[in-house]
Amino acid sequence: MTENVVIVTGGSRGIGAAAALRLAGPGTTVLLTYVLSPERADEVVSQIEAKGGRAVALKADVASEDDCLRTFAEADKLGRVTGLVNNAGVVDVAARLTDMSFDRLRRIFDINVLGTILCSREAVRRMSTAHGGKGGAIVNVSSASAKIGSPAQYIDYAAAKGAVDTFTVGLAKEVAAEGVRVNAVRPGIIDTEIHASGGDPDRARRVAGDLPMLRAGRAEECAEAIAWLLSDAASYTTGAILDVSGGRSILP
Ligand code: NAP
Repeated sequence: MTENVVIVTGGSRGIGAAAALRLAGPGTTVLLTYVLSPERADEVVSQIEAKGGRAVALKADVASEDDCLRTFAEADKLGRVTGLVNNAGVVDVAARLTDMSFDRLRRIFDINVLGTILCSREAVRRMSTAHGGKGGAIVNVSSASAKIGSPAQYIDYAAAKGAVDTFTVGLAKEVAAEGVRVNAVRPGIIDTEIHASGGDPDRARRVAGDLPMLRAGRAEECAEAIAWLLSDAASYTTGAILDVSGGRSILP
């Protein structure tokens, strides 16, 4: 039997690591990518192997077309690509628009938006029945910030995730008749290291009391939603953007 391959971008830490752990299982090999954290990526692979699963870690920057092509070429060697989780994403330190450099804006859009679009293109080239594929599913990891806008914090990131939402809906319709489902999860405040990279390591704990559920979310809670959207249990769900935000993204 051909092994199914699920690619999780940014699988070395946080939500991506939780998704990789959740998705690996009998008949499914996970290819997880990373950039700066090889040891963390290896740790995730070891954890999957300890459970009897198969996983491979690959250093690949989603913002590089060459790296995206290499990721999928490696995946092809492992089996048939049936799933893609576009999880890799970054924020920058809190700032107003007037203080955002061009380099910052470029990085935010290259990783969060271009990376998602490039990897999706490669996935569709393999999954779509119009390209000789046998179908598959893509899950994009957006953010509640796409709805909230995150003023004076990171409107660049919020706008990038808004683009991810629109891309999700458009691609879902484009390939709906070709056996490929495309959905997104929109996390709220999840307790991962992304907040430290935004210069506010205690953010998840600090704002917990202001959230409707009075707590931040866990990476595993996002991984469950990702796994469902990727699975056959969600066979009639496409173009959906599922809030996993403990109620944070409910608009007034
Ligand atoms: P995280 O803990 O900071 O982890 C980010 C992951 O992305 C790491 O594995 C990192 O790998 C990888 N990564 C970063 N840049 C990359 C690149 N250019 N190419 C490939 N991989 C790259 O973040 P997280 O909280 O788990 O976030 C995961 C996703 O959820 C992101 O899309 C984020 O925007 C979204 N999200 C998170 C929250 C939250 O509160 N945590 C809320 C809303 C949305 P290396 O360490 O190896 O570089």
